[in-house]
Amino acid sequence: MTERLIPIIPIRDGIIFPHTDAVLTFGRPKSLSALETSFQHERIVCFVLQKNSKLNDPSPSDLYSIGTLSRIERMIKTEGEINAHVKGLARVKILSFEEHESFLLARVVEIPEVVDNNEEIKALSNHLTNEFRRAMNLGKPADFLVFMNIMSETSPAEFSDLLASVLDLKVNERQQLLEITNVKTRLEKITELLAKEIKVLELERRIANKTQERFEKGAREAMLRERLRTIEEELNKENGEETSETREYFVKIKAANMPKEVEEKAKKEVKRLGQMNQFNPESAYIRNYLDWLVSLPWSTKSKSKTDIKGAEKILNDDHYGLEKVKERIVEYLAVHKLAGSIKGPILCFVGPPGVGKTSLGKSIAHSLGRKFVRVSLGGIRDEAEIRGHRRTYVGALPGRIIQGIKDAGTKNPVFMLDEIDKVGADFRGDPSSALLEALDPEQNNSFSDHYLEVPFDLSDVLFVATANMLDTIPPALRDRLEIIHFAGYTHEEKFHIAKAHLLKKQQANHGLKDEHIVITDEALRDVIHHYTREAGVRNLERRIATIFRKAAKMVAQGSKAKITVTPKNLSKFLGPVKFSSTIIEKKDEVGMSTGLAWTEAGGEILFIEVALMPGKGQLTLTGQLGDVMKESCQAALSYIRARASSFGLADSFFHKLDVHVHVPEGAVPKDGPSAGTAITTALVSALTKIPVKRTVGMTGEVTLRGRVLEIGGVKEKVIAAHRAGLKTVILPKDNKKDIEDVPKEVKNDLKFYFVSHMDEVLQLALAKPIPSPKTTTQVSYSRPVLRSPHTHPVD
Ligand code: ADP
Repeated sequence: MTERLIPIIPIRDGIIFPHTDAVLTFGRPKSLSALETSFQHERIVCFVLQKNSKLNDPSPSDLYSIGTLSRIERMIKTEGEINAHVKGLARVKILSFEEHESFLLARVVEIPEVVDNNEEIKALSNHLTNEFRRAMNLGKPADFLVFMNIMSETSPAEFSDLLASVLDLKVNERQQLLEITNVKTRLEKITELLAKEIKVLELERRIANKTQERFEKGAREAMLRERLRTIEEELNKENGEETSETREYFVKIKAANMPKEVEEKAKKEVKRLGQMNQFNPESAYIRNYLDWLVSLPWSTKSKSKTDIKGAEKILNDDHYGLEKVKERIVEYLAVHKLAGSIKGPILCFVGPPGVGKTSLGKSIAHSLGRKFVRVSLGGIRDEAEIRGHRRTYVGALPGRIIQGIKDAGTKNPVFMLDEIDKVGADFRGDPSSALLEALDPEQNNSFSDHYLEVPFDLSDVLFVATANMLDTIPPALRDRLEIIHFAGYTHEEKFHIAKAHLLKKQQANHGLKDEHIVITDEALRDVIHHYTREAGVRNLERRIATIFRKAAKMVAQGSKAKITVTPKNLSKFLGPVKFSSTIIEKKDEVGMSTGLAWTEAGGEILFIEVALMPGKGQLTLTGQLGDVMKESCQAALSYIRARASSFGLADSFFHKLDVHVHVPEGAVPKDGPSAGTAITTALVSALTKIPVKRTVGMTGEVTLRGRVLEIGGVKEKVIAAHRAGLKTVILPKDNKKDIEDVPKEVKNDLKFYFVSHMDEVLQLALAKPIPSPKTTTQVSYSRPVLRSPHTHPVD
């Protein structure tokens, strides 16, 4: 190989490989000088990499010893700079530097390329071509011309240099490649470097893809979000004006014709609803509230009829008997008509179940042409039940008054407050105070319900209350009520009620015609006597319904013949007789008397049994007796003990006896002082062994001295006595006045005695007179001081 003396041009950070072209810019004086000098002669220079790129004027020792022999193809000089197009020719080794004043000059020798084992090189080249293509596909930046050169048929040496020039390498790696003289080794090295580069490219691509994906996702979300925002904005804008829902509410509010303040409140709520996101849970509450507001009859009224004659006729048509009650109601309506408003007290129907309290209420509504609503107050202990829960509670609703008004659909219904005597008070507030507000004509024009928050005018409502008993009605409430008593019906009244009303009603209810069935009067009376025992007619109505139900079944099954219900076949419809044993069928018994009692369910007869056992003077009381009744028993015993001798008893009789007083039907609580006469009679009968007349019923309180005092509920008691088949009733003298109210047929059937002392009771009730004390063997007896009975038979 020939040695040549060539100008050396140091390069800071680049390598020109043989077989490659490059355009370089030179600025250092030594480089410029070398280029110019060379350009004027052979145009051949040698580019060598500086070991340290920062050195401005490197000495020979700062340079690598292997460089590239290159030809200067073209040169453009500008101010202090030369741009030169150079072409790498061959690898050279610097042998030695020669002295030169203006640039580096060295003796170099060309390094021959070592090309061996062609097959392997071919395989490597093929592999590299593919890999390079792959790199390009992965986005490797490369000059298209270089790409074409690489892809075209070239010598392995040229191929390797071209590839080396486009690899993304650090300068020292490039220098290493330059220094490899064996082509195969160079290709192997390039393979390794290209693989690394491809890996990086792949990674970059993946990162780029991911970033792109992420960016796209982000962009998509941002776009969607933006779109949603626009939609919401548009919607809100619309809501601010009107949606179909709010528009509907505005229409409903207008239609509801509310008072001004209520309307404003409602509109405010609608606006709130309009601005609210549809999915806000509160919107449901607001809707519920608005639905209540718009559905209340703020100004809807029934056109009230005030034809008193017509009302009276309707009441009479709908109800048998109850003359006094109907009269009082007609008076009430007349006052109402004249006064123009309901300022008076509230009517309260008091009586046992099934006597027509509710149905009279309905009749009142009917006769006035008003709607009827009924709200049961039984068991209410929470004020909120009447006045509503505040809206802050989950599931809050208006109270029963407002609910009733909504059901009525008018603001002037007949409003029945059922079971007003069953309202209780506890820690949840006092419902009766809310009721008072509703019933008070002075304040009920602005009744405040907690849920509604706006006042409702109840002043047009006609309230009617019902109760079974008076005692438990809170006094303040009772003060507002005008009590109308319903005493319960006699058998005869029941018969007429059934005949005139119940039969027709039930027959129609069961879809039966006159040609299908007839219930004979005797059968009906038997139903009353033997299948019911009640003050009202509720069970009677049920029994009649049972008969019709069975008959309906027979008709439906194809029975053609008219069904006639008689006393004979009655049990086919109603089963065996329920109440057979009337008093008449019983015999006179020792130690058992018949008392007359008054209960929530009306009048009742009550048996008082006394048993005596050897013992030590103990008094046992059973049958769920209340305190007052227990005291009556004790008082009765004391009265007898104090007067033992007059009953022919030894003074010490009580020391050897235990006395047991029992009032059967033990499950029913019994109380009150009015059983005094009956208890005393039973005790005397037991002690004297004289039976009590079974057909005699009695009621009256007894003092320790034997005086008989006035009691209540006479009418109900007497009716019950009659119903039970008693013949004689002994009443306190002071109750004589109450007999007036008793229905005629009852009066006709019963014998009444009005007494003022226990002695009279005993004389009337015991089957035979108490024997004279002489006949008794024990102690000394005085004659019984039986006063002459002041009996007052009514008939
Ligand atoms: P209450 O409310 O006193 O418990 P209801 O009003 O429910 O009694 O009466 C029970 C049934 O007896 C009703 O079908 C009612 O029409 C009927 N009824 C009660 N009293 C009479 C009467 N005097 N005339 C006609 N039907 C009556």
